[in-house]
Amino acid sequence: MPQPSMMAFEEALTALEKASPCLVQPETIPLNQALNRVLAVDIMANINIPPADNSAMDGYALRLSDRKENTPLNVSQRIPAGSSPTELQEGTCARIFTGAIIPKGADTVIMQENTSIDHHGQVTFTQLPQKGDNVRLAGQDVKKGQCVLAKGTRLKPQHIGMLASLGVNQLNCFKPLKVGILTTGDELISPEASSLELGQIYNSNSLMLVSLVQELGHSVQQVLHAKDTTVDIETALKNLSRDCELILSSGGVSVGEEDHIKQVIEENGFLSLWKVAIKPGKPIVFGRVFNTHFIGLPGNPSSTLVTFHWFARTAILGHSGETFNRPKHFKVKTDLQRAKAIGRDEFLRAYLTDNNQAQPHAQQSSGALFASCVTDGYLHIPAHRTIDTDQTYDFYPFSSF
Ligand code: AMP
Ligand code: MG
Repeated sequence: MPQPSMMAFEEALTALEKASPCLVQPETIPLNQALNRVLAVDIMANINIPPADNSAMDGYALRLSDRKENTPLNVSQRIPAGSSPTELQEGTCARIFTGAIIPKGADTVIMQENTSIDHHGQVTFTQLPQKGDNVRLAGQDVKKGQCVLAKGTRLKPQHIGMLASLGVNQLNCFKPLKVGILTTGDELISPEASSLELGQIYNSNSLMLVSLVQELGHSVQQVLHAKDTTVDIETALKNLSRDCELILSSGGVSVGEEDHIKQVIEENGFLSLWKVAIKPGKPIVFGRVFNTHFIGLPGNPSSTLVTFHWFARTAILGHSGETFNRPKHFKVKTDLQRAKAIGRDEFLRAYLTDNNQAQPHAQQSSGALFASCVTDGYLHIPAHRTIDTDQTYDFYPFSSF
């Protein structure tokens, strides 16, 4: 059973969605710089897409009712893409190419593979088409006036393509969130150092957090490391607060003698320490320090990753104007069995096997990062649930975050 002070996973997540205000201002940017940026306005279509009826195939355009069995049609005009056709002469067809405008009077395109041309240049159809075949109607993709992309969307390559097809070349996006990263711990040294002394480990959370923030399209302003002293942590936080809107830290948030984050925040702002009932993870700190939003994640690398994915990411979406989207997931079974339930929501790093089964990695220690590098995502075992082969569980691919 969870201790009474522990907060349930879902409760923590919803609370965070409510308590993460947008901290960024909109600005106008060119479309070619908009990848991964968050829309600050709804985008309405001011044209139809496609703008006019056009052909989906290379072939012949005709009015289907003009076609008579065993009577070849004369070709009265040639319409390549980009040209503007004249009205179709009655009883004829037009040579037409993919993307070319359907001439007035025509209603169907027969693809060239289903035609034959005789020595007079007349066309016979080897297969009977249906009216409207191979005609892409104006507005069939997007209708003028329709909302195409909603405020809060983070722009992916397909969104950029869509905006370009609407003729948008400048748009209103939120400025990227300015994030500062702080890692803590006397035992940590930079991976730039040539070798490790006894007791030292390389600082892996620093670059992992930088990458997680950058992957969400935001700007890492400054990256600092502090020794486990209140002075060092305070100095670093003060520096980060100068040009960051959000500070993310790793380590030092437990209640051990070497964990000073809490004290420094309390002396220079305020905090709530959440013992969220998740595994790996648990102590997470939210608050303000030197008037800057602050999230303190646990230091064990797998806990850092999981708590970033679930909590820091959620806060960052809110702070950066992005719409909250719960990560996509699907149901899986597992061949793992565990009769004893635990009081925390568990995120097992697991492989997805061919028959849609999730197979958890054998090493699930919160300090062990390797499992997240070779598996496909999280197998979510809700608190108080046993694990057995009859039940289904949610699987969250890492790519959902
Ligand atoms: P802490 O939360 O500071 O008590 O750290 C918990 C564990 O995570 C300890 O084993 C630390 O050595 C390790 N750890 C903390 N910060 C980092 C980091 N930035 N990179 C790698 N391991 C870390
Ligand atoms: Mg530490």
